[in-house]
Amino acid sequence: MGSLALSRVEALDQPAPTIAGEVARIAREQLAPLAAGIDAGSVYPAEVLRQFGEVGAWGSHMPHEGPADLRCAIQAMAAIGEVCGATAFMAWCQNTVVWYAANSTNMKLAKRFGDGFSTGRLLGGTGLSNPMKSFFGIEKLKLKGRKVEGGYIVRGALPWVSNLGPDHYFGTIFEREDEPGPVMFLADCSDPAITLTPCKPFLAMDGTGTYGVQFRDVFVPDELILADPAGPFVKKIRAGFILLQAGMALGLIRDCINIMDEVGGPLGHINRYLPQQPVHFRDLAAELEAETMALARDPYNEEETYWRKVIALRLRAGEASVAAAHAAMLHCGARGYLRSHRVQRRLREAYFVAIVTPATKQLRKMLADA
Ligand SMILES: Cc1cc2nc3c(=O)[nH]c(=O)nc-3n(C[C@H](O)[C@H](O)[C@H](O)COP(=O)(O)OP(=O)(O)OC[C@H]3O[C@@H](n4cnc5c(N)ncnc54)[C@H](O)[C@@H]3O)c2cc1C
Repeated sequence: MGSLALSRVEALDQPAPTIAGEVARIAREQLAPLAAGIDAGSVYPAEVLRQFGEVGAWGSHMPHEGPADLRCAIQAMAAIGEVCGATAFMAWCQNTVVWYAANSTNMKLAKRFGDGFSTGRLLGGTGLSNPMKSFFGIEKLKLKGRKVEGGYIVRGALPWVSNLGPDHYFGTIFEREDEPGPVMFLADCSDPAITLTPCKPFLAMDGTGTYGVQFRDVFVPDELILADPAGPFVKKIRAGFILLQAGMALGLIRDCINIMDEVGGPLGHINRYLPQQPVHFRDLAAELEAETMALARDPYNEEETYWRKVIALRLRAGEASVAAAHAAMLHCGARGYLRSHRVQRRLREAYFVAIVTPATKQLRKMLADA
């Protein structure tokens, strides 16, 4: 009786669970057992993504009467990334589609989707790699559209879009054929004129629901238009789009530090000769996290210096991910060279952080051009 009363008092003393804390719990309990299957491409974790949504992982960054704060969304994504990089990427995909819908001024779209994306009832992602490259002069827009009564007709194909399935949605952009100007819209994967084609196996990320998407004269109704014209909207959402990716990097780096610590006992006597030690990455992760959190409070900042900081941070996050996974691999030695050891998965996931749009090379171009 006494001990029960005490445990109640202790429970009252505990801080209220945070979103990131709840996400970390679900990641440990539900996601960790699936991570190898996701990596192998045999599992797409729709149910766990929905559970993350139920505890608020996808809703915290929605703007409230003006400002938006991305810190909680990034911390939740980092908690997922500490367990599985592929799922952290899907978390980013889901967070982007929430970000697009929440920033759209299309009331019809808001009415139809309400809180569907932010609660995880609806899943989806983003097809902005090609547009983000096109806006920075790297390639041409792959989707074309023309105005018709009540909407647009869209055709073309995107080679890779993730976190998709037959009932998913994603935000992307077409170029108007009838007059200048890009338009941003939500693609509905259940539309019979949209085909999802499985991709050839990747180095990692096979369980991320990634498909080639073909649009065969798809009718996109006005209620699915996110922004027309897309230009000012993209300027508004672009810092958030990039900053949210820091969650993938922070989680991955944290687990690489965990891995180095785990082998410190048996291998510390020899690993101490390696130039990069867990303490270096702890400092690096703390620096990246502090800078991310500072920038994430102000994603609508229009100053050029802010935008430059966002690009530079994203570049560092990709490079630090690869460096941490590389160091973890060297610390593990032969035991990490086994397919069953997660460090080799971390190495493959880290390269994805560095090559997903905006990739290291694009970020360097953006900094050079700015
Ligand atoms: C696993 C995975 C998931 C992805 N998920 C998404 C997503 O959800 N949304 C999204 O918008 N983008 C997605 N991408 C695309 C990604 O963000 C990059 O844009 C893409 O990898 C190309 O970038 P790059 O810097 O390598 O392009 P570059 O090296 O500059 O190449 C330019 C272009 O060459 C073409 N190209 C290069 N290699 C191939 C190939 N093997 N087959 C066909 N064409 C090719 C493509 O058109 C590419 O954009 C995904 C890519 C991968 C590998």
